[in-house]
Amino acid sequence: MIEPEDGRVAKTILVVEDNDLNLRLFCDLLAAHGYRPEAVQDGRDVLARAQAVLPDLIVMDIQLPHVSGLELIEAIRGDADLAAIPIMAVTAYAAKGDEERIRLAGVDAYVPKPVTVTRFLEAVRGLIGAAG
Ligand code: MN
Repeated sequence: MIEPEDGRVAKTILVVEDNDLNLRLFCDLLAAHGYRPEAVQDGRDVLARAQAVLPDLIVMDIQLPHVSGLELIEAIRGDADLAAIPIMAVTAYAAKGDEERIRLAGVDAYVPKPVTVTRFLEAVRGLIGAAG
């Protein structure tokens, strides 16, 4: 765990992504910039992990096996403990209207795949500020 020099706990980011490589890349990138990533690969674990961690931000892949990111966003927004946590959707373009549906579900940022490092970090900083 990374502790900023002033003693505050690093901002925690729940990273939901089923793809091994993307999950590793997102988590490494966030850790390298002073955030504390919490990886979740199985969408079915998201609500329990979010309740346990109460992250500062949730990075949500939309295309997941078992449960869609859109359903998870709706569940998070409907949960009293989690509703106020910013959500950044990360998704490949799928069908016309998908981005609007995802935005209407209550995400705070929408980052299309393929994700560039610059765009990813700008979106994170835009939502929760720099790490330290
Ligand atoms: Mn996926």
